Formats: sequence, structure tokens, C-alpha cells
Amino acid sequence: MTGRATPRSGALFERAQSVTPGGVNSPVRAFSAVGGTPRFIRSARGAWLTDVDGHEYVDLICSWGPMLLGHAHPEVLEAINEAVARGTSYGTPTEPEVLLAEEIVARTPVEKVRFVSSGTEATMSAIRLARGFTGRDVVIKFAGCYHGHVDALLASAGSGLATLAVPGTPGVPASAAGETIVLPYNDRAAVTAAFAEHGDRIACLITEATPGNMGVVPPEPGFNGFLAQTCRDHGALFISDEVMTGFRATREGGWGLDGAVEGWTPDLMTFGKVMGGGFPAAAFGGRADVMGRLAPEGPVYQAGTLSGNPIATTAGLATLRLATPEVYAALSATADTIIGAVVDALTAAGVPHAVQRAGTMFSVFFRDGAVSDFAGASTQDTAAFAAFFHAMLDAGVYLPPSAFESWFVSAAHDERAVATVLDALPIAAQAAA
Ligand code: PLP
Repeated sequence: MTGRATPRSGALFERAQSVTPGGVNSPVRAFSAVGGTPRFIRSARGAWLTDVDGHEYVDLICSWGPMLLGHAHPEVLEAINEAVARGTSYGTPTEPEVLLAEEIVARTPVEKVRFVSSGTEATMSAIRLARGFTGRDVVIKFAGCYHGHVDALLASAGSGLATLAVPGTPGVPASAAGETIVLPYNDRAAVTAAFAEHGDRIACLITEATPGNMGVVPPEPGFNGFLAQTCRDHGALFISDEVMTGFRATREGGWGLDGAVEGWTPDLMTFGKVMGGGFPAAAFGGRADVMGRLAPEGPVYQAGTLSGNPIATTAGLATLRLATPEVYAALSATADTIIGAVVDALTAAGVPHAVQRAGTMFSVFFRDGAVSDFAGASTQDTAAFAAFFHAMLDAGVYLPPSAFESWFVSAAHDERAVATVLDALPIAAQAAA
């Protein structure tokens, strides 16, 4: 790693580490998987981040998904500034909440929606609602799918298929993980076996619409529809977690890739990231009869001081309204260009790789052959990725600092930004070889 000099990031990281665990407020920002010092970002505009040492980077993290239109989009900023001038939080209902809920209901199969402040809260609340609605406790999730840091969802597979899980981290009680079943992704037989054994105790099955948290691993054709049907057959709810894919993979989210085509709908969905336009906003929604069980309409309690915050919902609404079909077409074309160049560069350098995508999201696995589950994703050459990552960073491209993450582009990734990525790729591919 020769690298650009980053003394200010280095100094801030030192100070951060003395007041914050690991120096960061979310673990993957710390470069633990790739080594080195995370860059402290001072500002961002369009496709570009500027760090505190004055270096510019093409941003392929996009705040882990939200910045669909790029940073500091003038019309989004204008909407936010107008909203801020009127005050920042009232703790009463507001108009932007209604408008954003209507926009989400119009774009997705949900009939009713409730706002929260993070994706974690959305999945936690959806699971409580599913348990309250069904009167059952057991939750099924897939290995490699991430649904936030909810106790019951930070679980690891038990000793055999269809056995109840064990805590995935210290701090999660065995009782919380003990109501969770963790199965291999894309494995219909495992799902069938789990329902055969525990069917009348299963409240819900939660899955990422298209997993992006083990890298992008698309569902095999018909898999999500199979899950929806299996849940229905057993009186369980099907929860599609679209915190990452919602309004990102396509205009209709991950559901736009298969549900809209195959004709099934989830019972509940969760959203976050893009729908907050860079602010902490998230949501869960779904069937009116299920959502009707929520307080104050029904008995299942859920609440939030800043839920539906007027600035966050204004930012989200402005973002969604600007996210036209043309924007998604442009994002898809940018993804095509970058994917093509990644494949060319890694092939030329002789680096094993597999690129997988879901709409506008994509990721690069540093191994040969398609990946269909977490076991496959885990066989990557993470050292090769780390070398690749740092060479890209030195050449002015900020990738997610882990081999298990989706890459994100924005509508602001113009020719200059894409050219910077394309110039960096052959150098980084050589570094990974
Ligand atoms: N669900 C999915 C699919 C996610 O990708 C994430 C975050 O990356 C979450 C839930 C949790 O969201 P948050 O980080 O806002 O709590």
C-alpha cells in the first residue's frame, strides 16, 4: 500500500478510537476486513466524496445504498432546507408522512405503512407484528441475510437443518435466538423440512428480497414465490426485507425483479435507506389486516419519538419523486459499464471472480463460479479483495471495505466518475493477482 498521505484521517481515527469503540459508529466502516485507516469524509457532492485531507474519491458505497441520486442533490437539498426552516420535529402527525406513505403504497404491494427510524427497527417491529398476528413465536431466516442487529435475527444455524438457532453474538440471550431457525439460502428442501417439523409454531419467514449482505446473491427463479406459498400453506407470514433493495434494485425494489412478474406479494415488507434520502427513516408495511393489529388500531405495541420525522420524510419524498424510470435506466447502464470493466480487468489479471447483480445492485466475489448461498460466498479470497480495495482507494475509488457487500452507483455517476473507476480497475486487478 503506497497510498495517498492521509494524516488528518489518521489523527481523527486515533482520537475516535479513544472515545468510540473501534473509532466508528458502525463496525464495517472501520476497515477491519481490509486493514488500514478509514477515510474521514468532510463533504460529498454528486458521485464524489472529499476526505479531510482533501482527496477525492468516486463513491461506490453511496452511504450503503441510500444516495440513489448522488450526494447533495440540489432539489433534495432545497426541499430539506425549506422543511428545516419550518422546524425539525413536532411529535405530531405531519403532511410529509402522509405523502411519503402514499408514495410507498403506490410503488409496492404494501397497503399500509408505519414509519420508524432505522432498518433494524423496521425488521424488529415487523417480526413483533407477525408474532402478534399469528400468536406464534418461531422465526425463520437465512444464513448470510442481514436484517439489522435485532436479537432474534443475530442468530447462527443450530447443529442441523431445521433445528433452532444459537446466538450469533455475545449479548443475545439463548432464549431470543432459540426461537429462530437459520437455513441455507436458496435451499427449498431445507425450508420444506423446517415447516414440516415446526410449521404450527412458525410466525414468519424473513428474507432479503434479493440478498445483498453476503454480496449480491439473487434468489433462484421462483424461490421467493415458493417461500410466499409455503408460508401461506402453514399460516405463517412472509416478510420481504427491502431495506437495501427497496427503491434501489429497481423502481419497485427487489419485488420488481420477481414478485411483480410472477404475481405474488409478501405479507409484510421492510424499507429503509433510499426512502430516507440520507436521513434516518425506515418503514414496515403490508397487508391492511395485518397492519391493523398495530397500536393504536390493534393490540400490538410499537412507537417512536422521531418516527416519521418531518425532515427525514421530506428528504425521502423528494428522493423518491426524483427517482423516475429514467434514473433507474441510467443506474443500470452505469452498472453494466462498471461490471463489464471489472470482468475484463480481473480476467486479464487472472484473478478468479464472479460478478452477480440484482437490478442496479451488484457485487464481485473473489472466487470462481456463481454463488447461491452464504457457504459459497464465504469461500472468497478475502486477501485478494483487500489488495484490490486498497489499490482502488489509492486510485480514488471508495469501495465498500468488505468482500461481502454490494457496490452502489448513483444517478450522479457521470462520465468523469465512471472513467475514474475504469482507469483504476486494471491497476487494482494487478494488485489482487
Ligand atoms: N435489513 C437489510 C436488508 C439491511 O441491509 C440493513 C442494513 O444494512 C438492515 C436491515 C438494517 O438497517 P439499519 O442499518 O438502518 O438498522
